[in-house]
Amino acid sequence: MPSVGNKLRHLASAEGTLAQQVRAALVNTLYTSPASLVVGAVAGSTVAATIAYMSGSIVLLVCSIAIHIVGLLRIASAYIYKWIGAEEAETMRVHWERLYEIGAWLYASLLGLQTFLVLTQTDLMALQLLAVTMATGYAAGVAPRNAGRPVIAFGQVALAVMPMAAGLWLTNEPVFWILGVIIVIFALGVFDITLQTYEVVYSALSGQQEKVEVAERFEKMARSDMLTGLDNRLAMQMRLGELLDRIEQGSGEKLAVIWMDLDHFKAINDTLGHLAGDKVLIVTAQRVKAVLNDRGWLARFGGDEFVIMAKVSGLGEAQSLGEQIMESIAQPISVNDQNIEIGASLGFAVAPDHGCQSEAMLKCADIALYHAKKDGGKRVRGFELFMHEDFLMHRQIEQGLQEALAKNEFELLFQPIVDLASGKTRSCEALLRWHHPELGDVSPAVFIPVAENAGLIGKITEWVLEKACIAAAQWPENVNVSVNISAYLLKNPNLPVKIIETLVNTGMVARRLELEITESVLLDESPQVNSLLRQLQKMGLRLCLDDFGTGFSSLTYLRSWEFDTIKIDKSFISNIANSPTDQKIIRAVVQLAKSLEVATVAEGVETAEQLERVQNAGCSRVQGYYYAKPMTADQARERLRLEQADSGAERGPQVINLH
Ligand code: C2E
Ligand code: MG
Ligand code: MG
Repeated sequence: MPSVGNKLRHLASAEGTLAQQVRAALVNTLYTSPASLVVGAVAGSTVAATIAYMSGSIVLLVCSIAIHIVGLLRIASAYIYKWIGAEEAETMRVHWERLYEIGAWLYASLLGLQTFLVLTQTDLMALQLLAVTMATGYAAGVAPRNAGRPVIAFGQVALAVMPMAAGLWLTNEPVFWILGVIIVIFALGVFDITLQTYEVVYSALSGQQEKVEVAERFEKMARSDMLTGLDNRLAMQMRLGELLDRIEQGSGEKLAVIWMDLDHFKAINDTLGHLAGDKVLIVTAQRVKAVLNDRGWLARFGGDEFVIMAKVSGLGEAQSLGEQIMESIAQPISVNDQNIEIGASLGFAVAPDHGCQSEAMLKCADIALYHAKKDGGKRVRGFELFMHEDFLMHRQIEQGLQEALAKNEFELLFQPIVDLASGKTRSCEALLRWHHPELGDVSPAVFIPVAENAGLIGKITEWVLEKACIAAAQWPENVNVSVNISAYLLKNPNLPVKIIETLVNTGMVARRLELEITESVLLDESPQVNSLLRQLQKMGLRLCLDDFGTGFSSLTYLRSWEFDTIKIDKSFISNIANSPTDQKIIRAVVQLAKSLEVATVAEGVETAEQLERVQNAGCSRVQGYYYAKPMTADQARERLRLEQADSGAERGPQVINLH
């Protein structure tokens, strides 16, 4: 039977690579049916007792007692296995397999020995027939039963059959000799059937195992973030739910839920590309993990949002943990040989102080994060009750902004900027107004930062540019229009293209368009911003540095970029009458601007006294309620028309108030 030999070789190699779980399942098959063990033991013991009794042989009596004892022990072991359960038994799997093997082989040997003894020691044909039938039936029964562990089955068959064959050949009966040969052939046949059964059982179990592994892989994927390998939102929410349940049940623990968001991450993606963005996220994850160092859990909720959970003693520890994380992220990140400095804002809530419901906790942390961002970013803030109302308002503004353009809720007003030398309007600043259906008029100082954060500032600015250019196209040639450009947009390389499109569509010339860049938003001196500003100037546009003096890098900007105008912030002008220091500052700024050949605008001039002071300080232009409040496009056109009609006369600045 060459096929049996081949299959045995195959079996030997398969046994070596047998997966743990498959092997465990195969061992389990040995013990699954204790009832069949009972049947085998009862049959074997009855036959053995009968033979011992009828033969009167002491040796066979001893053999019969051994068969009884081994049979009973095997039944007991099968029930113990069942009682402790397959999972518990798994830790001792090798021992259980060995135990079964010893029991099975011992039992088979005893049956084989009994048959050999009956055949060689007695002449009682009936007993010989009984013993042969018992051993043969046993071999035929155990082979398929234990095919899951074929080595055991082979051993059982061989140990039961071979002594019987030997016994048959040692008799004087030629018929028994033939039977001996047939029994050996029968054993080989049983081997073959055992192997076939094993193959079927093995492949079924391996297939099942593969399915289990694939399912486990998918489940892991569904719970983790592909980029960073961290838990994702789903996994974190499940864990958060479990931890909060424990706290709710009075475990006495406190849990900080910290929501973290990278500052200006979108700008990194937009300017340096998504690969750089990915690198930043991966490094961020590594750094937070290093700070946490088994103290808590970290998950990525998508985009640049991360959530951290950590057991803390109270609000103070949550705050200091947040600060440690923030500091670790403030360190520069090297991407493509460039050092990126990215900040993080963190908001946290602590359970049970702020609640025990996972949704509510996440929301509180998110609200606190919003305040950290609102305060300028690179901050850690804990949740406080007043934040909630503020948050609702913010949400309302953010949602409203999404539709404000489509619903035509914006209006563009214009405020003249007067040239002090000629007394004529030199330019009009376009100022955006939002008439919210429920909140009433919302100040741009409130909604522009929200639009910046929500990524809506680009669309809004396009709208402002278009309306401003359409209006200015109807003004005299020598009056410019000034449009506020959020510094955030200076990282968008599409800005020049958008401006060219607007100029072409509205028939405006570039030299009449001035861009006011708000200085309070921190500009970085990146080559991208620099080249964009150069590009805009090459197109003929004028650049104005707005709100000069409010940010801390004003002078740095003047050094880095050639602005055409600087606008001194209105906070200096409002104090000019009673603060000699502010007067001196304005004078110094004007001197500096003159030496750089840059024009100066005094913003927020409301009184004649303020006007006199800025005039004395040497400011070249003035903007403020003293001349005119922001007005509609029609009013601006009318004002400019009147000014033109008046242009022959040589006079000082005129106050033409249309309000
Ligand atoms: P800004 O560019 O510094 O605009 C000047 C602000 O001062 C305007 O406030 C204007 O109405 C106000 N103002 C002018 N003269 C006087 C005065 O004599 N006294 C006082 N107290 N205030 C005066 P507004 O219109 O509320 O705009 C606030 C800020 O919102 C602007 O400051 C600008 O930074 C931003 N903004 C307005 N429109 C836009 C826009 O279309 N795009 C962008 N990115 N920002 C805008
Ligand atoms: Mg401005
Ligand atoms: Mg300003």
